[in-house]
Amino acid sequence: MGSEGQQLHIFIFPLMASGHLLPAVDIAKLFAEKGVRVSIITTAGEEPAIEASFCRSSEAGRRVRTLLVEWSSSAIGLPDSLSSVKTLDMHMDFLMRTSALRPSFERLVKDHHPAAIVTDSFYPWTAEVAEEVGIPRLVFDGSSFFTLCLSDKINLSTDTQESSADSGDRIVIPGIPHRIELIRSQLFDAKKMRPDFPDVFMKMKEAEGRSYGTVVNSFYELEPDYADHYRNVIGRKAWHIGPVFLRNEDAADNAMRGSRTTLEQTRCLTWLDSKAERSVLYVCFGSLSRFTETQLREIAGGLESSGHPFIWVVKNAGQGNSSGQWLPESFEERVVDSGTGMIIRGWAPQVLILNHVAVGGFLTHCGWNSSLESVAAGLPVVTWPIFADQFFNERLLVDLLKVGVDIGVKTNALGELERETVKAEEIAAAVGRLMGDSPEAEERRSRARELKAAARWAMEEGGSSYNDLARLIQELWEKQSAASHART
Ligand code: UDP
Repeated sequence: MGSEGQQLHIFIFPLMASGHLLPAVDIAKLFAEKGVRVSIITTAGEEPAIEASFCRSSEAGRRVRTLLVEWSSSAIGLPDSLSSVKTLDMHMDFLMRTSALRPSFERLVKDHHPAAIVTDSFYPWTAEVAEEVGIPRLVFDGSSFFTLCLSDKINLSTDTQESSADSGDRIVIPGIPHRIELIRSQLFDAKKMRPDFPDVFMKMKEAEGRSYGTVVNSFYELEPDYADHYRNVIGRKAWHIGPVFLRNEDAADNAMRGSRTTLEQTRCLTWLDSKAERSVLYVCFGSLSRFTETQLREIAGGLESSGHPFIWVVKNAGQGNSSGQWLPESFEERVVDSGTGMIIRGWAPQVLILNHVAVGGFLTHCGWNSSLESVAAGLPVVTWPIFADQFFNERLLVDLLKVGVDIGVKTNALGELERETVKAEEIAAAVGRLMGDSPEAEERRSRARELKAAARWAMEEGGSSYNDLARLIQELWEKQSAASHART
């Protein structure tokens, strides 16, 4: 570690979307606990939520602060956070114009002289900023090694040609450690989002290639073949330091994750306390996914007829052009008032719920954070991916880790109108397979329990993620001291 009086100071600059911001805050805590000073770079809109995540009375908490960036005048009108974006168009504007944050970010780097920057893959221009001032840039994109490897084999601009969801057009991903098969329409098609969106991905890939390395929220034992493949075959430097949220053993920290209030916490936990062990299904589709009213009604019907108690988190109920008819007739009286199901409209304390002893399964959209949170909670899952890398995570959970029941979604699309409707019968059947007591269901549970133990061990002193973080910090110290010798 550094000599007395010296400090290691890094910037962490996540994308302003829950799936990127929440793990970045946890990463900041991990670094701070090891004596590193951390500045989280964010916007004024996100700052209060980030500030609420740090206990300033602790020594580590005092090592973290926030510094603010602003959109330059060319992008005035873009919101402060991706989670608050309501339309697909604005979502795309946000992702395609992040370079409008560059002047403001550059000023911060020049004023504060961090030893390294950890920046989101959606800020490819930060690689140039790091080169200009001669410091390492580490990439954090919030995904798994598995996704990093598969994405490397798929050229987003040419491989994902037009194909209909039911064309049966299967492809096998070439050059990776296992045979992984997807349907073409399950691949993310950047072109479909906006004709020039593939250019953004090209820039991200190019910037990743010239950056110092990649920080991955995963642990070696979860995906050893892909951790090795990424490092040894693709040839990129990487550190696995997760599951990073496991450092939040404190219930208050977990309750506040991504939320500005703890209101739902008491309601949920009291309800869960009244349920039998491993009996409840938790249903949540992350922070961004929205559904049509037709789909919401099918989900309600499927959950009711599955006969298992559930907590269902609904993000867009009653919003926009919703007529309010998104629940089947008398559903609230039959299911909610009777205590069989609970609906959370808005934000749920997900990590707390997943780790409650009454929860026995998770119907998930397979966002990487949710996937890892289910693994660390030792829960089997029903997989219902929506867009982006979620279809890769589904294959990891179902084919390789063998803890998932695939519900059978075929279309990778963020827009709710572009996706096929999953019928109530299909939902009830998948939930039945997951929560039932067949030998396959028991095997899934037993594998999930093993993964939970491995995840926890990885973060303990001497565990694989613990050691990799220590190695990374040591390397950053060495780079900082080499740079300061070169200057003197
Ligand atoms: N999350 C939560 N409450 C919610 C919805 C999401 O705490 O109601 C958290 C969840 O625990 C996870 C993150 O938000 O840490 C979502 O990230 P993920 O990668 O799963 O999905 P995304 O939102 O990026 O699609």
